[in-house]
Amino acid sequence: MVGGARRADCVVDAAYAGWRRGLRFGVWLRPRGLAWAATSLGFASLFVALYAVTWFPIGQLAALGGRKPLPCIDRAGLSASLVSCAPHRNYVAPQLFDVIASLSADVAQRYPGGKTRALDASFPFFDGVPLPPHLSHDDGEKVDLAFHYTRGGEPAPGALASPIGYWRFEQPREGEPLPCGTRSQGWRWNMEWFAPFTSRDLVLDDERTRHVLRWLASTGAQRGVGKVFVEPHLAERLNASGDVIRFQGCRAARHDDHIHVQLR
Ligand SMILES: [Zn+2]
Repeated sequence: MVGGARRADCVVDAAYAGWRRGLRFGVWLRPRGLAWAATSLGFASLFVALYAVTWFPIGQLAALGGRKPLPCIDRAGLSASLVSCAPHRNYVAPQLFDVIASLSADVAQRYPGGKTRALDASFPFFDGVPLPPHLSHDDGEKVDLAFHYTRGGEPAPGALASPIGYWRFEQPREGEPLPCGTRSQGWRWNMEWFAPFTSRDLVLDDERTRHVLRWLASTGAQRGVGKVFVEPHLAERLNASGDVIRFQGCRAARHDDHIHVQLR
C-alpha cells in the first residue's frame, strides 16, 4: 500500500514537472516572437512542418539500413494504405519489396486496372522493434496485404473494407472449418465494436484474392516467401493451398481480414 502510494506520488510529481517545463517552453517562445507556436494550432503546424521536412531523410536513412518503403502513392498498381504510410509502417527488406512489386505487376497484368494494397509492414529502422499490435513485424520481412473486393458486382480496385484496412472479417460460413471457436482469445480479437466502421458494400472478390494466394504459394514461394497466413475457412473456400499457406494458430490475430506474408 505504501509502495503504491509512493508510485502515485511519483506519477503526480512527474506530471507536474512536465507541466512546468511546458509552461517554461511557452514563456521562452513568447519573447522570441514565437508565441504562435505555444498555441495548439501553432504546435500542430510545427509538428506537421517538421514531419514533412523529415519525411525524405527517413527514407534515405532507411535505405542505408537496408529497408525500402512500399509506395504511399500508387506506383504501377501498388500502394500502401495511408494509415500505414503516415507513421512510417510501410518499410520492407529489398527482397520482400521485389516479391510484392512482382505480385502487383502480375495482378495488374492479369486484371487490367487491378491494384495491390499493402497494409502494415515494418518501421524503417532496426531489427527487433515490433510494430504494435503485430509483434512479428520487426525485421522488414513481413507485410500484410488487403484482400480484393467487388462493389455492386464490379471489381473495386484498391478499395479497403475499413478505414484502417483491418478488422472487416470474412466470417466462416456454416460447415467451414472453425478451429478456434467463436470467442476472442489471446491476440485473436473479434472486434465486434468496430463493425459499424467497416464497409457494407464491399464483397470479397474470390477470384482475385484466390489468384493472390495461389501466386504467393507458387511464384512467391520460389522467390523466398516462407509463410502466408490466412484463416483455414478462407483457404478452403478459395481453394488455395501450398506449403507456405498456413494457419497462425488460435492465440494470434485473425487472418480473415487480410493476408500476412513473410519471407523464409
Ligand atoms: Zn502480419
